[in-house]
Amino acid sequence: MPRLVAVSNRIADPRRTAAGGLAVALADALSASGGLWFGTSTQRDDRAGSDQGGEAKVHLQRAGEVTLATLALRREDHDAYYVGYSNGVLWPVFHYRLDLADFDAGDIDGYRRVNRLLAHKLMPMLRADDVIWVHDYHVIPLAAELRALGSTHRIGFFLHIPLPPPLILAAIPQHEWLMRSLFAYDLVGFQSNTDLRHFARYVQAEGRAEQRGDDLFHAFGRSVRARAFPIGIDVDEFASLLQGREAQETLATMREQYAKRKLLVGVDRLDYSKGLPQRVRAFRRLLERHPENRMSATLIQVASPSREDVDAYADIRRELEGLCGAINGEYGELDWMPVRYIHRTVARRRLPGLYRAARVGLVTPLRDGMNLVAKEYVAAQDPADPGVLVLSRFAGAAEQLGDDALLVNPYDTQGTADAIQHALRMPLDERRTRHERLLACIREHDVHRWHRTFLQTLTEEHA
Ligand code: UDP
Repeated sequence: MPRLVAVSNRIADPRRTAAGGLAVALADALSASGGLWFGTSTQRDDRAGSDQGGEAKVHLQRAGEVTLATLALRREDHDAYYVGYSNGVLWPVFHYRLDLADFDAGDIDGYRRVNRLLAHKLMPMLRADDVIWVHDYHVIPLAAELRALGSTHRIGFFLHIPLPPPLILAAIPQHEWLMRSLFAYDLVGFQSNTDLRHFARYVQAEGRAEQRGDDLFHAFGRSVRARAFPIGIDVDEFASLLQGREAQETLATMREQYAKRKLLVGVDRLDYSKGLPQRVRAFRRLLERHPENRMSATLIQVASPSREDVDAYADIRRELEGLCGAINGEYGELDWMPVRYIHRTVARRRLPGLYRAARVGLVTPLRDGMNLVAKEYVAAQDPADPGVLVLSRFAGAAEQLGDDALLVNPYDTQGTADAIQHALRMPLDERRTRHERLLACIREHDVHRWHRTFLQTLTEEHA
């Protein structure tokens, strides 16, 4: 079996539960054949050269069967590559937010430089028959850089975030270069069929690609396979977290404190793609139009701090804090506060307890590649008395869960408020039936299937 080499901007020690489902899943795949996981380090090293690497040294660490390899970047390179181009251009545009993108020519240079540097550092660590799996928008041109150094490896790429329609993508000055870079891979995976359709339309319109067969595209003198591989969670791992001490403690505390209330929960990074102000406005509309929920419905919104060095994140934080303060001021009573807003990361080990205590899970992003919180909420419910998932139609997860969650358009305040009211009033029988089907679905599309099918497809022609 060939060795698997995974590459992503950040890596995580898979032996820690805090690392989350993706790290656990990758570790699973990596340890099967003894693998290498390569990414950038959280440390900065201003002596490190850029481009071809200079003095920069890769730091190696063993984690069971997996070798973790990290490279410290110079501050200037990190800022241009990570803060500037990845999160100032690619993240907003790929989430359809042209208004928030900041196109600065210096940043694209840094993005190219760091990708070239990563390729130069990775190349000497590779064995001839390694299979390479590259993850996410920070490292789109990595395969092209490796090919320029002579790599003939099988290389796959998975985009964890959405791919926007061609005309939105075309706003990025380097869109053609970026999309051409994808053709240096053997296989490109997307979260949803919608993203895949956007890819097909883009390469047909801008690259005059020919589609040969269902998933084979030929353009720019190369062929690439492209498919949707919806990511999932490890349902059993999540169920076992629920049995752990922290989750049980959280569940007991929530049940005690909110015995007479109906809890709604939202758990998100504080990111403008997550639709948090829209969600709070929909909750306010619920209290306004359906007063029977006052003194009862309580929204716990966890907004975990994220990318605070990017300006748009400070703006969304101010807006959200203002809205939560206003709604509590307007509707709060001495013994009831409608919204509890928590600007902190809640430990992953506690989350299953919080999800389980909530009658409604609110997952209403404006745009999201997949959204794993939706799947975690389903996994944590009591099948005998489950809560209801209210899910944005703009989350990748809607392609799998859309039939049994209550689908909403998060821009439609009234429609979302009505769906929350429906969720709060839903009879037990209907909740059970919907939950049973949702659970079967997240089991079927779990994270093991995701990495198995991706890697099988990537290595297929070798067999
Ligand atoms: N998460 C967490 N603590 C928090 C907030 C989020 O552990 O306070 C975890 C959550 O359980 C989920 C992940 O972070 O596994 C978020 O993944 P998702 O796909 O929902 O969104 P992303 O942050 O990747 O955009």
